[in-house]
Amino acid sequence: MDADGPLTPLRFQPILKRLIWGGRRLGSKLHKELGPEADYAESWELSDHRHGQSVVAEGPLAGASLHDLVMTRGTELLGEAVGPREQFPLLLKFLDANQVLSVQVHPDDEQGRRLADDNGKTEAWVVIDAEPSSLIYAGLRAGVDRLGFAEALEHGRIAEVLHAFEPKAGDCIFIPAGTVHAIGAGVLLAEVQQMSDATFRVDDWGRVGPDGSPRALHLTEAIEVTDYERGPVDPVRSRPDQIDGGTREHLIRCPYFALDRYVLTGSTRIGDPQHGRFTALIGLGGKAVVWHDGQPYPVELGQTLLVPASVGACPIEPSGEGEAIVLTCTVP
Ligand SMILES: [Zn+2]
Repeated sequence: MDADGPLTPLRFQPILKRLIWGGRRLGSKLHKELGPEADYAESWELSDHRHGQSVVAEGPLAGASLHDLVMTRGTELLGEAVGPREQFPLLLKFLDANQVLSVQVHPDDEQGRRLADDNGKTEAWVVIDAEPSSLIYAGLRAGVDRLGFAEALEHGRIAEVLHAFEPKAGDCIFIPAGTVHAIGAGVLLAEVQQMSDATFRVDDWGRVGPDGSPRALHLTEAIEVTDYERGPVDPVRSRPDQIDGGTREHLIRCPYFALDRYVLTGSTRIGDPQHGRFTALIGLGGKAVVWHDGQPYPVELGQTLLVPASVGACPIEPSGEGEAIVLTCTVP
């Protein structure tokens, strides 16, 4: 195999981000190699963004950036159905909220370009672990309008206007652009989103940053981009379907991404048999292995694998004791 040969499933080096709300679970639960610090917040698993560029970790393309691959081998990587792009369309992350994150809201594409020189940001989360009585804040309570929201911000009463629930492992939450949200302390999750880092911070719970002063808020932008029709947001209600080798659950279909969850007790196939689109896999539980050209590609809890469109569908099966849980992500 050489660097110009056919693409194989690709693994990338995680990009670790330290932020004041982070913790240690990216290491203790997801097996990332951390330094000694106590504030590891995010692992960017697949990113083609100016704030973090994924690099192939192993194999003949080791050292190549995701962006280089999109520009030089776009059709093989992304697929005809996704089309040529200037940027990989999805950003995949793990987040460890050791403390609550700021309350925030993201713009749509038009607002993102105008206000943040970035794409819009519609995102979705799948909870991996949640400590008892941890919270997720998602959407405004019923009846909260622009004026009520602005008044709550002004008087430091943000918690009174946010909808909140206690998440449990496996919950999937859909956060379209414009949905006010905060991930609470104790939640570990996988996030799939548009390739964007455009965030407007609404409220930071009175906290100060590492330099002792409050982190910047973006109230004008936040009040503009908030969707006041969205209302309270609870986990998606989807049902698993029986398939050969386990179950498959269509979690989310939106214009930006399609997410399916596989719970595997035996062998099945994963990826697009028509070679029309890539499939990114995220290990959410247990151990699975993808086979391609006689080579094994592990997808264990905390691991991410990108199956290029040119690779097509591959066998996947559990490789440890018990079932394996894998999230698949692609562009519809
Ligand atoms: Zn967000």
